[in-house]
Amino acid sequence: MKPIIIDKKCGASESVCKALKACPLGAISYIEIDEPILSREVNCTSSPTADSGCGCNCDCGDGSSDCGGSPYGRIIIDYDKCTICGICVDECCGNAIEMVV
Ligand code: SF4
Ligand code: SF4
Repeated sequence: MKPIIIDKKCGASESVCKALKACPLGAISYIEIDEPILSREVNCTSSPTADSGCGCNCDCGDGSSDCGGSPYGRIIIDYDKCTICGICVDECCGNAIEMVV
């Protein structure tokens, strides 16, 4: 078993990512790569990056703030550090992390 990030469901916001903050081993981090994801399957309609989307159920729903989600962003897991505790799966507010065999 190991946790995987489903990029299309992930808003990829470094400042909001609850899984990144919750991982006790510091195994989760944020990166940006050249390939944008332009159609994420997430629900946010308030962020300026809403076309790419954010799956986090944060408090920015009034549309006045930018959570920092980027189409170039990715949340990644360092499997050398991960102990497969499952906390990130529970904490991910976009249901973007799944345990797979
Ligand atoms: S969807 Fe999950 S993994 Fe993606 S930024 Fe939000 S909390 Fe982090
Ligand atoms: S399963 Fe646990 S150790 Fe691994 S990335 Fe998630 S929170 Fe971190």
